[in-house]
Amino acid sequence: MMDASKQILADLIAFPTVSAESNLAMIHYIADHLTDCGARVELFRDKSGKKANLFATLGPEGDGGIVLSGHSDVVPVIDQDWHSDPFTLSERDGKLYGRGSCDMKGFIAAALAMAPTFAAQPLSRPLHFAFTYDEEVGCLGAAQLADDLTKRGLSPKLAIIGEPTEMRVIEGHKGCCEYITIFQGLAGHGSTPDLGVNAVEFAVRYVARLMELGAELRTLAPEGSRFDPPWTTINIGAFHGGSVPNVIASKAHVDWEMRPVQDSDGELVKSTMRRYCAEHLLPAMRAVYPEADITTEVIGEVAGLTPTKDNEARRIVSELTGSNRAELVPFGTEAGIFQSLGMDVVVCGPGSIEQAHKADEFLSLDQLQHCLSMLQGLARSLQADNVRNG
Ligand SMILES: [Zn+2]
Repeated sequence: MMDASKQILADLIAFPTVSAESNLAMIHYIADHLTDCGARVELFRDKSGKKANLFATLGPEGDGGIVLSGHSDVVPVIDQDWHSDPFTLSERDGKLYGRGSCDMKGFIAAALAMAPTFAAQPLSRPLHFAFTYDEEVGCLGAAQLADDLTKRGLSPKLAIIGEPTEMRVIEGHKGCCEYITIFQGLAGHGSTPDLGVNAVEFAVRYVARLMELGAELRTLAPEGSRFDPPWTTINIGAFHGGSVPNVIASKAHVDWEMRPVQDSDGELVKSTMRRYCAEHLLPAMRAVYPEADITTEVIGEVAGLTPTKDNEARRIVSELTGSNRAELVPFGTEAGIFQSLGMDVVVCGPGSIEQAHKADEFLSLDQLQHCLSMLQGLARSLQADNVRNG
């Protein structure tokens, strides 16, 4: 099983599925593999037609199934100092190097390598494979997949999201909301600032207000919050604007994110910033230039994964991995989207988030083996259920 996984992982890494690029070649490769195993495979294209989600099923039709979920896209390698070609799997010292090795083509490779095993036995419930596009840029593919599953009226019961957790069972994470706020001002000569609207200056005020809110959110951490840090955070990721010292900047934009521990925090931030623009920034900008504007584009609003009391996915995966506690992580995944469909969800996959998104990203063979063992256990339990339930 290890050799098959390694071969598939090498193939998957060779598809440079950076989020900005098409994922179709990789999705077709997966579709062929799963079709050969006897799975019923469906592709759902995005609006551009250049990307697709894959949803496949082994075993019986209908509701109540288990979803093995992964994203097909990877982050770019630009400005990273790699010691081997990031899109060629390289095995050194018990580690498999390559972009996406841990985040998260390793899990996908393990799931695909196990597909013939799942296919060879009668399954007590449907086993689904859900592989999405554009996770790294706001979970856009998973949001579309959720819509498509709802339209089909299909209700799987459980999902295992194979993001790198070193095979620890994760039952919760914060939400992740990413925005670009764009400031449209009016250019002019630097010597006459009152005749223009300086987009950079208004963007600075906007950022300052966000930072104040960031401090306020620290006081709103829910009692007993297990998140680290326990409050909702805000990060200013990028600030762009203007050109040269003696021209009034007509354009600026701020790329920022927040990671809510509770929905109310997200609402607070959004409504506060809307009000601040409407009552303070925009009136000042438009007093000089009526067309001045501030607009916020949503890159993605990824739901958090809320820990729940009853979680069948947690029970099953804890049993399979021999883990006696479920944890929380500070990074976002597609799990919240599956949870919003009413499913029981955990995040559990091979490799460490420490290696994700970095140069020389790797997955250790040891982690890959852990993942295969978990999936082999899952295969046995699905068959055992089958025998038990007749
Ligand atoms: Zn990931």
